Amino acid sequence: MEYIPEPFRIKMVEPIHKTTKEYRQQCLKEAQYNAFRLKARDVYIDCITDSGTSAMSQNQWAAMFMGDESYAGAESFYRLEASVQDVFGMPYVQPTHQGRAADYIMAQIYAKKGKYAIGNMHFDTFRGNAEVMGAYPVDLCIDEGFDAASDPLPFKGNIDLNKMQALIDEKGADNVCVVIITVTCNNNGGQPVSMQNIREVSALAKKYNIPVVIDSARLAENAWFIKQREPGYENKEIKEITREMFSYCETATMSSKKDGLVNIGGLFVTRSEDVYHQANQMAIVHEGFITYGGMSGRDMEALAVGLQEACEDSYLEYRTGQVKFLGDLLMERGIPIIQPTGGHGVYVDGRRFFPHIPQHEFPSQRLVCALYEESGVRAVEIGACAFGSKDPVTGEDIFPELETMRICVNRRVYTSDHLRVIADALARIYERRDQYKGMKIVYEGPIVSLRHFTAGFELL
Ligand SMILES: *Cc1c(COP(=O)(O)O)cnc(C)c1O
Repeated sequence: MEYIPEPFRIKMVEPIHKTTKEYRQQCLKEAQYNAFRLKARDVYIDCITDSGTSAMSQNQWAAMFMGDESYAGAESFYRLEASVQDVFGMPYVQPTHQGRAADYIMAQIYAKKGKYAIGNMHFDTFRGNAEVMGAYPVDLCIDEGFDAASDPLPFKGNIDLNKMQALIDEKGADNVCVVIITVTCNNNGGQPVSMQNIREVSALAKKYNIPVVIDSARLAENAWFIKQREPGYENKEIKEITREMFSYCETATMSSKKDGLVNIGGLFVTRSEDVYHQANQMAIVHEGFITYGGMSGRDMEALAVGLQEACEDSYLEYRTGQVKFLGDLLMERGIPIIQPTGGHGVYVDGRRFFPHIPQHEFPSQRLVCALYEESGVRAVEIGACAFGSKDPVTGEDIFPELETMRICVNRRVYTSDHLRVIADALARIYERRDQYKGMKIVYEGPIVSLRHFTAGFELL
């Protein structure tokens, strides 16, 4: 099986620890079978998220010593601004402390009460922000993107233009406040969006004067897939591709905890001077002054370097290759996953893995617990718990189409042998899959769309 070797060698290590199965069973019980409530020290290989977990390079650490911590006009801001302008091709850069702060500012500007926000699949923090604003977020990804068992396609993150046109016709263009394209599409496997789709969605939106925003946490991974999979882009540089992607939008938000290769930070980037000035006002109230927006000078330095490193071919080839390698290991063992693998993790199809556990008994959450119990590997449920909702009138549970366990691969952190541990553990569970039963929720917080972070479960 092909493995693309790391384009780096390791000069600092962080110890991780194995535990016993009995100990992990106790941990699960104490955490009420919710992986978010486990202590990190009790986890052997942590794949709950790719957010803020990247290993930084020697150049990033070195840059941190150059942090200019001036309140206003710091050198570090101007270095970050130049790096962002280079990758995004847009002039105005407002840093934020995380992606969700950029989402918040974006929602304040673009989400309108009683109007629709079209997306491929909205990220949960924007969804929460939009709901607070009274806007209706709608997911209009292509059908194949909602089906974890669909045949492989190169761009399962694409927006369905027919669905978009139909929504505009049905609700009226005045009732659509924004189109948000999330690259890559996290909810269905880190699936990319093609340049053609970004271009066509943008043209359709423009026809009706609807602004386009790109939620760009994984911009470099998306650009890499365009280079690999879309005719006409094979000889382009990654940054040429990212700049073309952003040429079709007015504004971009970014959680730099992903493709920024840093542990904290976010960006609000725009080509509209007016939107920039609005964002500045909100940043000053909620984040910090315009030239730091909730980030320290040293963090801005690390991000300025990290963004550039994330756009290197050798890094992206290794990065997406590592994810594919884990996917290949799982497929070789007969384990059902979303195909092809995307940018930041492998998504196991909970429905096909545990066909005897109905969705209301949380098959993917059960799998998360089984994997942790078996091997100390922590993954995360993206299914009935995380994306379940309740009918506003009847209060009845509504279950999402996608029912998966996401195994995130952290950037530059684990080796191929760690990935083998994960694959072998899952294979052992798969062999005795009939022995597992479902779960029930015994505690959930009041905000249903965020219940997965704190929910408590019991095994059936
Ligand atoms: C992570 C993420 C966010 C939120 O960013 P944080 O830095 O976690 O606040 C928003 N959108 C997308 C697509 C993300 O992946």
